[in-house]
Amino acid sequence: MTTIAPTGLRGQVITPSDAEYEAARRVWNGAIDRHPAFIVRCHDANEVVAAVNVASRHGLQLAVRGGGHSIPGLSVCDGGLVIDLAPMKGIRVDGNLVHAGPGVLWRELDAAVEAHGRAVPGGEISHTGVGGLTLGGGVGWLSRRYGLTCDNLLGARVVFADGSVGEADDELLWGLRGGGGNFGIVTRFTFRLNPIPVPMFAGMVVHPIERAREGLRAMLDLAATAPDGIGLNAALITAPAAPFLPAELHGRKVIVLAGCHVGPPEEGAALLRPLREFARPAADLFRPMPYTALQSVVDDSVPHGLAAYLRSEWLRPLDGAGIDMLVRAAEAMTSPRSQTLLRIMGGAIARMPEDATAFRFRHAAAMVSLAALWPEPDDPGEAHAAWARDSWRALHPWSAGGGYVNHLGRDENAGRLREAYGPQTWDRLVVLKRRYDPQNLFALNQNIPPQDGIGS
Ligand SMILES: Cc1cc2nc3c(=O)[nH]c(=O)nc-3n(C[C@H](O)[C@H](O)[C@H](O)COP(=O)(O)OP(=O)(O)OC[C@H]3O[C@@H](n4cnc5c(N)ncnc54)[C@H](O)[C@@H]3O)c2cc1C
Repeated sequence: MTTIAPTGLRGQVITPSDAEYEAARRVWNGAIDRHPAFIVRCHDANEVVAAVNVASRHGLQLAVRGGGHSIPGLSVCDGGLVIDLAPMKGIRVDGNLVHAGPGVLWRELDAAVEAHGRAVPGGEISHTGVGGLTLGGGVGWLSRRYGLTCDNLLGARVVFADGSVGEADDELLWGLRGGGGNFGIVTRFTFRLNPIPVPMFAGMVVHPIERAREGLRAMLDLAATAPDGIGLNAALITAPAAPFLPAELHGRKVIVLAGCHVGPPEEGAALLRPLREFARPAADLFRPMPYTALQSVVDDSVPHGLAAYLRSEWLRPLDGAGIDMLVRAAEAMTSPRSQTLLRIMGGAIARMPEDATAFRFRHAAAMVSLAALWPEPDDPGEAHAAWARDSWRALHPWSAGGGYVNHLGRDENAGRLREAYGPQTWDRLVVLKRRYDPQNLFALNQNIPPQDGIGS
């Protein structure tokens, strides 16, 4: 069947009859299987404007795709129009700023700015898109030193729902720093550049899961006194058959304790010593390395096409019982690809005033992510998703009050989204939504409905 694209679309239009369609409709999460009527790959803001106007004129459901890593698959729709921003890859360094197009991936931005001894704090996986990660907050290796990604967003050029184009004013910038894709399509992000040492001291140690409680305690003790320059996280996973791991650990559950230091490598080596020496590790992969190497070190553990279901929560400080619950969650993982992750917050993230951005949980001690991952299509995945939900429930006593906007799942209700923002921020976001998108054209996202009652 041939689908006729509506007139007015500009850029590369892909319909179900095109050979490229199958690959073009796929997103990172292999469990998402949607069939848009049209995909338009845009090369500049004018093509984005044309696509927005067509979607609005024809009442088409609209999905906006940057890097395609939305875990609930919000960047692809059934039967509507996908605006794929992937070709918009411009990167321009301008003094202490960098301008990035909405199709840029973190690995591309990191490489371009590391050449200047600079970085924008991004996430921990280099094939993730700059767009979605920034607009929902952005937590990664450098966040304790330089804040969330959205804290470093200093400007944005936006295509609005009425087809107009403009620079974000202060209030819209506030909303774009955590409020997601609700207000328009960002066609240019401007970030602050921060100095980083090249190389920096970073890496990880691996221990059998029997040492996980001890290892987590060592990491949390270190986090309690560590300077902002120290980034820390832990992953409880099933060990791959990697040459750097002893054969007896292959296929067994392990804890990976990872860290980095934004500062002189010899200082980093001293500061991170407690993490490396609390017990003799099965593998110690700490060394001076460029930030770009650190950023891609675990990329292969989450490849495109793996099916995913995630539950995530901001946490208060974990006591012994909390640590124990986290390890029990990891012990119960049902798929060898699943991961139980703990990211340590604090530092510069917590120093920004509460209302400086639309991001809420600055004062959380950590974030837990229960990532159910399994290969499609051999497995419907229900058992793995149930593990994530059950473990998330078991960890709820340590909740700081809600979840991360960029991690909310398909089956989490509107109440979870409100919780992720809190009442004051929610109301301020609704005001912005009414101003910029009163008809809710940009609805396929963590949606702030314009008709929502303020103060309700
Ligand atoms: C493997 C993996 C690792 C991750 N690691 C981290 C991490 O370390 N830290 C972290 O904070 N998060 C992390 N995340 C979560 C990540 O922040 C979100 O999935 C984010 O949405 C990905 O951005 P994207 O551009 O790739 O996604 P997309 O699926 O392309 O976009 C997601 C949504 O963002 C909006 N959007 C994207 N671009 C634009 C734009 N230019 N204008 C307007 N709206 C836009 C749209 O609403 C879209 O539906 C990870 C996710 C995955 C899958």
